[in-house]
Amino acid sequence: MSKLNEYCTFCGRSKKEVSILVAGIHGYICDICANQAFHIINEASPQKKRKGDFVLSKEELPCPKEIKAFLDLYVIGQDDAKRYLSVSVYNHYKRLMQLNEDDNEVEIEKSNIIMVGSTGTGKTLLAKTIARLLKVPFTIVDATVLTEAGYVGEDIESILTRLLHVADYKVEEAERGIVFIDEIDKIARKSDNPSITRDVSGEGVQQGLLKLLEGSVVNVPPQGGRKHPEQKMIAVDTKNILFICGGAFDGIEKKIAQRLNTQVIGYTASENTKKIDRNNLLQYITPQDLKSFGLIPEIIGRLPILTYLEPLDRNALRNILTEPKNSIIKQYQKMFDMDNVTLIIDEEVLDYIVDKAIEFKLGARGLRSIAEDIMIDAMFELPGTEQKELHISLNYAKERIERVENSRLQSA
Ligand code: ADP
Repeated sequence: MSKLNEYCTFCGRSKKEVSILVAGIHGYICDICANQAFHIINEASPQKKRKGDFVLSKEELPCPKEIKAFLDLYVIGQDDAKRYLSVSVYNHYKRLMQLNEDDNEVEIEKSNIIMVGSTGTGKTLLAKTIARLLKVPFTIVDATVLTEAGYVGEDIESILTRLLHVADYKVEEAERGIVFIDEIDKIARKSDNPSITRDVSGEGVQQGLLKLLEGSVVNVPPQGGRKHPEQKMIAVDTKNILFICGGAFDGIEKKIAQRLNTQVIGYTASENTKKIDRNNLLQYITPQDLKSFGLIPEIIGRLPILTYLEPLDRNALRNILTEPKNSIIKQYQKMFDMDNVTLIIDEEVLDYIVDKAIEFKLGARGLRSIAEDIMIDAMFELPGTEQKELHISLNYAKERIERVENSRLQSA
């Protein structure tokens, strides 16, 4: 065949328009059509009728307490969020099991979740940890990339592209999956006043998201990104997909405080406000506060389970360093162990790392980068030497951090 005729025989796209064009004896097929053909075959195959590949049996299903115990292994604190998540995931499984049974007299509705908490308090970690336990497809997407159709950014439906991908494009399995939508607060309306001029990333996106949350059949672009007219879509029913949303909702404390008729800072002698813990106002969050922040009531209605994450105090940060099953310190110990080096870290070093993380206002996110700055030299120097032990004292740690801080100052 001549080079000039390098077009997909099925859809007519030219080589330039597709990623891969596979040559046959009498024609070509592009990656998009090949993918589509794969789905058609899959749909038609008798195996398609087999349900529940991803679903646990009743005996295997961990109860909420067991789910929480599992979360406890990896995530410090956040008991409230863990309880809500455990129950919700447990119920999600039950709903999926019910779908497999013929008795459908009482239909269990899904309960999507929304978690509110400052950045670095463990929202994504909770979602990821749940994913370890699950036997359903799971994916994390970021709401900040979403914009209303017709604007720069990704269409709402692309949220499901990743889920499809994780489910190996088995639509039925994706339809039972869990999607974690991070930074949901970023699509909040900029003002509580709906009559304000349209904002591209706000209400329009929320309306689009609503369609997914409430359960409908949506056309998903298999390649993600923006839809274009020629791209073949895959129809996905979101009725049984569980959505877990997370967001920092910066400034929502003020809305909560206003509602509680108190102030974040300042003194009020009113009897009612005495019992209020003003350091952690998030614990009093209600759907009404989400509305004041700029989520439309319809979205809030579709996220019936509302929970919060606590700010991490010194104690929690200290525990995060050493307690979780894959804690930062355990990871370093493991890495050195692989080079036959025993790592000993003094307790006061751990306190120092926590102090620095608090000083940098980075929450738990900071722990890792501070620890990394302390360890980097040793991780570079030790492998390949005869040294069998590494002892990190407070002086050693301080010296490394000061050196890093100085060199960053100089290069700034
Ligand atoms: P966000 O709330 O912004 O989604 P992440 O879950 O991404 O925060 O947390 C960032 C990192 O901080 C995690 O990878 C984890 O190492 C650590 N971390 C945060 N919160 C906790 C926690 N409660 N328990 C254990 N580690 C945590």
